[in-house]
Amino acid sequence: MRCHVCRALSFAPLCRACRRELLNPDPKIRMLESGLEVLSLYAYEEIEPLLLTKHLPHGWATYRILAKESFRIFDKDAGGGMMAISVDDDPKDGYSHTAILARCLKKAGYRPLYGKLHAQNRISYAGQSKSFRLQNPRNFLYTGPANIKAVLVDDVVTTGLTLMEAHDTLARSGVDVIGAIVLADVDRE
Ligand SMILES: [Zn+2]
Repeated sequence: MRCHVCRALSFAPLCRACRRELLNPDPKIRMLESGLEVLSLYAYEEIEPLLLTKHLPHGWATYRILAKESFRIFDKDAGGGMMAISVDDDPKDGYSHTAILARCLKKAGYRPLYGKLHAQNRISYAGQSKSFRLQNPRNFLYTGPANIKAVLVDDVVTTGLTLMEAHDTLARSGVDVIGAIVLADVDRE
């Protein structure tokens, strides 16, 4: 078996050298136009090779290591029993990457809630402009409980439009969204 990133022989999907080199979270908060605060742990370029494993076979294993190692920066009770709602990406491989992230926040005192916030429009935003994204909203559907406090969980924030739309859908469903947690921000200063 080989490291997914550097291809060195390794029994883990991410070798020790790559963990040391890539996984040094540097938490930063970005405020979106809507006022939603987004906590990111990395600049996108820093962990790009890991994020790009997403659609490879066993990419889920890399995501799990990435999440587990990175979320160590949170205190045990950081979430205080709050829900962590994953912004679901396309679970075409039978699992959702963002659900893995939500699950890994359990150790930080969050209660994962996945498979409850679905984008009904899954058109790809990759490489698309902000106006294209605005013209093709995600149209989220939320089927989880109301009257709860929660954070949103996603892997990458780009323009922030997806998170703002998810926030809006949840707010209209009676969910008090405290903020969002993402692995990487494409737009860090
Ligand atoms: Zn490696």
